[in-house]
Amino acid sequence: AKQAERGSVARYNRGVSEEIRGRVNLLHNLRGAFGANELFLVFQPQIELATGRCVGAEALLRWRTGDGAMIPPDHFIPLAERSGLIVAMGEWVLRRACEEAARMAQAGHGAVRMAINVSVIQFRDPHFLGRLRAAIEDSGVAPGQIELEITESVAMGEGDRMIELFGRVKAMGLDIAIDDFGTGFSSLSHLQRMNVDRLKIDRAFINDIGGAGKGGDIAGLVCGLGDRLGIELIAEGIEQAEQAGRLQAMGCQLGQGYHFARPMPADDWRVWLAEHSSG
Ligand code: C2E
Ligand code: CA
Ligand code: CA
Ligand code: CA
Repeated sequence: AKQAERGSVARYNRGVSEEIRGRVNLLHNLRGAFGANELFLVFQPQIELATGRCVGAEALLRWRTGDGAMIPPDHFIPLAERSGLIVAMGEWVLRRACEEAARMAQAGHGAVRMAINVSVIQFRDPHFLGRLRAAIEDSGVAPGQIELEITESVAMGEGDRMIELFGRVKAMGLDIAIDDFGTGFSSLSHLQRMNVDRLKIDRAFINDIGGAGKGGDIAGLVCGLGDRLGIELIAEGIEQAEQAGRLQAMGCQLGQGYHFARPMPADDWRVWLAEHSSG
């Protein structure tokens, strides 16, 4: 038994060191990728459910390695966060997304919003607000066109510090959306004091809205909450027309998901927007 145990510990250790080596390797590649233009943004339209009009887009980060493999953000963003690389990478995302938003406005799609994901590490960085201001000024975008998406766990996590940071972002004229809403534990008074513009209902709860009128309880509750607090709602991960219909009936104003459009590279997004905007 001892022997077998020792064997399994050795296997475990080998497994761990392989995992660490894999991670170190990926991080090394990620640093290189950042320098070699292997990172790019894709844009996914956000739709007004009542009219089908496109009101904005979310910028999502992509990494295509030199040999053509796509690494999903769920894999490399946590790594970038642990290593601190996310601060520089997130600044690049901010700049690139602001540039794209400025370009949208110049093309005559003035009211279209750009939603940008901000990591907790990036948001907590003491230089974040300065970098945000610089990205906006350098791109020439109207601040009101930019929305920051901050996950619920981050927004609720640090008490008054977050409220103060949110206040500064709002004072600059930007919108704030709480991402993955429903997965954390929001305090209602906290939510009210944060003065956020939008709650983004997590995809898991949209998934629950299945066929034959089943599910959607949490989505319904969140919609009721948004309505009471006067906060606009957006549902992510809408894959079926039926989900869009049910959400609209629940009072959800906006939606995003494969049912409307997949995230697209900038060139495709510009064409899509020109074809789907009224103004
Ligand atoms: P998220 O912010 O919740 O983004 C939504 C994710 O759902 C995206 O995955 C999007 O492609 C996917 N999605 C959109 N519509 C549908 C649908 O109808 N069905 C399904 N099954 N999925 C849909 P993606 O692009 O892989 O991003 C995953 C996560 O990575 C994001 O979750 C976000 O947390 C993070 N992320 C992506 N880009 C950035 C970035 O620039 N900065 C930071 N900090 N995080 C990012
Ligand atoms: Ca998001
Ligand atoms: Ca989300
Ligand atoms: Ca999500």
